[in-house]
Parts: sequence; structure tokens; C-alpha cells
Amino acid sequence: MGCGIFGAINYENQPVFPFVYWGLRSQNHRGHQSHGFLTYSNNHFYVYKNLDLVPKIKTNVIHEWFERLPGSIGIGNVRYTTSGKCDDNSLISGTQPVTAQSDGIKLALSFNGNIVNTSPLKREMTQNFEDFLYTCDSDIICHKMLLGLKQTKDLVSAARGVMENLDGAFSVTGITGNGEFFAFKDQYGIKPLCAGHDPATKTFAFSSETVSLDMNSFVKDFELNPGELVTVSKDGFKRIQVIENPKHAFCAFEYAYFARPDSTFGGKYVYEIREDFGRNIVKEYPKESHDADIIMSVPETGDDSAMGVHEQSGLRWERASRRHRYVTERAFILLNNERFSTIDKKINILGNKVAGKRVIITEDSIVRGDTTKVIIDKLRKAGATKVYVFVTFPRIIGPCFYGIDMSTYGQLVGSKRTPQEIAKVIGADGVCYQSIENLVRAIGRKEDDLCMACITGKYPTPCAQKMADIMKQRFLEGYEEKTRVYELDEVQPLTADGKAN
Ligand code: SF4
Repeated sequence: MGCGIFGAINYENQPVFPFVYWGLRSQNHRGHQSHGFLTYSNNHFYVYKNLDLVPKIKTNVIHEWFERLPGSIGIGNVRYTTSGKCDDNSLISGTQPVTAQSDGIKLALSFNGNIVNTSPLKREMTQNFEDFLYTCDSDIICHKMLLGLKQTKDLVSAARGVMENLDGAFSVTGITGNGEFFAFKDQYGIKPLCAGHDPATKTFAFSSETVSLDMNSFVKDFELNPGELVTVSKDGFKRIQVIENPKHAFCAFEYAYFARPDSTFGGKYVYEIREDFGRNIVKEYPKESHDADIIMSVPETGDDSAMGVHEQSGLRWERASRRHRYVTERAFILLNNERFSTIDKKINILGNKVAGKRVIITEDSIVRGDTTKVIIDKLRKAGATKVYVFVTFPRIIGPCFYGIDMSTYGQLVGSKRTPQEIAKVIGADGVCYQSIENLVRAIGRKEDDLCMACITGKYPTPCAQKMADIMKQRFLEGYEEKTRVYELDEVQPLTADGKAN
């Protein structure tokens, strides 16, 4: 599931809740449907979960939160769902952190990602735990880890069992019933996870994005390696490379859309990379760049690339669309039925800026095309004479199985259309995608170290590739996809060791 995770431990016996609270609030862009906190004190887990955004806390009730969530170790999660059901009851029961216990062993986990081979794992968990109930993938990962702890009594072996047997993406932070605080990443390192600390308060933390370390005034220490487990003691972090996998696959979409611009990956700010994306598109599309009067962005993920387009082309960047400050949902991570009405209410166009003008809009990506279409309709009504869309993320041709909610071929406007055909669907005069080569160059990682499955069709994990191949064939033959591809039992692998059938 698309999520943000944060966890912290304090070695001066201070309450950890404020750190986890700000850690999650700074990452609410990674999931707005629900949020959850879990703290550990005296061998007990204390949990609070609710729907929607992380709430504001008024000073007069802060003591209630400290009472509700005591202790100096805590983890939290903000979520938008890419597995399980989406009604309110299912959302709240699928909210993380999750806990599991058996034979006196307890575990709490918060994770970001998505498991691909869920069917055999559900069977394995049902055989091993009488009370196993699947609401979403976090139940699988938590129980698989618990099973490993029961069998081996060793955190490293349990994490290895998860890494070796789950096909998918998972960045995890957790607490055992003994108060051990840890984090690990799948062997491909698909989702981000970093570690940092505050020397003044002796607090150590794990976070999906660096912005949450910044907001807590922590120093960033490192990004976890793929296949790495990190434990924490009062002396600091202990890094254990559990699995060596030469193939890494960090999600390229984090750079274009998902992450906050003020987070860093590999030492580079995301906003700097997005500016480069904008410069690249101007170089790739000189004809369209010359055929425009102004640039505008759809706030906010298009803002940084608009700066790059402006710098490279010399065109005026007009703030011709304004965003309602208190409609905070991100259009892409909204559910289908929420999307149309919210984008319409969220973005307003300043008619006098665009009337009679040839306009370039910068977009981070085009997934379904519906939000871009709404903006273009508004621009046309306001009198724009031409509209070109400069898109920083190359054409999305296939679903994501790793925690971004684009899970069928049919929902993707680019799955079987050329850019010219997409332009027609959304009402643009041209759709100009950044090339994959330039995307990779701007990101600054090797192509082989990135996941770009949704734009290349090459999935880093074996089960995902097998499913994608089957489903693509069916889609091209006219099969109607009614659910997420990876939730179809018939394309799932048979065994829990991650081998495709
Ligand atoms: S398939 Fe696309 S969105 Fe999903 S992890 Fe890979 S790059 Fe990211």
C-alpha cells in the first residue's frame, strides 16, 4: 500500500509520541485515508488508529494523547490502500501499525509497499495461526515475521524469512514484545527508508522520507540498503546486510510524483531533480517549446519542473492556477469516485492569465488522464488557444504491483495509446513525455538500480513479471479487469516461497 512510515526510540525515557506525530504529519502526502500510532511501554503495545489525515492536536488535549500513547518507543503509519477493501470499516481495520502474537511472542509492524504473492502466503498463515484474518498485506508481513520469530527466536532469521519469501515491495519498521526496535527493506529496495538521530535527546528514528527527520530536527544518517536490517541500541544503529541482491530497484515514480520535493534521496533534493526533468523536456521538444507564450503548473507536484521549463525555455512562468489551501487530498491517491469532484473544487484557473495564450502545463505524470483533462477543459473555457502538456514521468504503460494505486491495464490511459492518442483523449494539442534516458540521467542512479516497471514493462520481482505478462495478454485480448491484477487468485503463484506457478 502507498504509505508513509515513521518510528523512533528515545534513550532518555522521554515520551516518543511527539516525534512520531510530526514524523507522520510531515508525510501525510504519502497516505491520507487513515493514520495510526503505536507505542511500547512495560511490555505493552498502545494503539490509536483513525481515518483521514493525521489530526491537529490542540494544546488543551495534548495530555490525553500522552496518556493514550505512553512510552519511549513508537511507530506510525499514514496509508492509502492498494490492497484489501476501501469501505470505512475495512479501511480502519486495515490501518497500521498492526500487531500479532502467538505463544507469548508479540510483534508490531508498520510497512510501506505491497505484497504480490499474497494467495500462498495467506494459506501459509491460515495453517500456522488459528486466528489469522487477512484485511490487508500488513497482516501477512506481520504474521510471516512472527512465524520466523517463533521458529528461530532470532530477528535476523525472521527478517531473512520475510525477505526470501515475499515477492513485492516492503520497507518496514517494527517493535518486538521485548522492546527491540528495528527496520528493514526488501531485497530490491523498492520503497524509501532512511535512518537518523538527534544527539541532544538520544533519539533514533526510521522514516520513509528525510523530510520527517528534518521536521523533528534529526540528523540524517543513511538510507537503508536493499536487503538490510537495522537494529538500534543506546550506542546507535547496527546495520546487518541480511540478503545481498545485485539487482536493486528503487521506485522511479518517487522522484516524479510521490515524494515531497524537500526530501532527499541519494543526497539530492527531489525538487532539484524535478527541475532537471523540466529542463530535459524543453530540450527534447523544441518545437512545442517555441510554440507557447507561457508556462503554468498544476500545483504542487508540477511546480518544480515548471521552474526547469522556465529556466531552459525563457518563457514566463505564470501562476495561472491556484490551489484551494484546505482541500488537501492529492488527486492521484484519491479513490476513483472521489477524484473528479475534488480536482474540480481544488484547482481554479486565473482566466486573465491564459485568455488568448498558448500554454504549456507541466504535469508530474498522466495515470488515468482524468485530472489533466479537467484542467485542460478549464483552460479552454478560460480562452487558452493552445495547450501542451509537458509530463516529467514517461508514459505509464503497465500497472504497479508495489504500492502505487494503478493496478490494472485498463485504467491507464497510456497502456495502449500513443502520446498523440492520449492528447486527443485529454483535449491537449500535444503531450510531451520526458524520455526514460533523461529521467534516469536526472535521477542520477544507474538504470539497473531503478524500478521503472510501469513505464518499461520490466518488473524487478519474478511473480510480478509473471502476473504482468499474463494480464497484459488478457487485456490485449479484451479481458475486462474488475479488480487489482495482484488480487486475482488465478494469476497468483502456488507456493509461498515466491516461485511463480
Ligand atoms: S512500477 Fe512504477 S510506481 Fe511501481 S514501484 Fe515501479 S516505478 Fe514505482
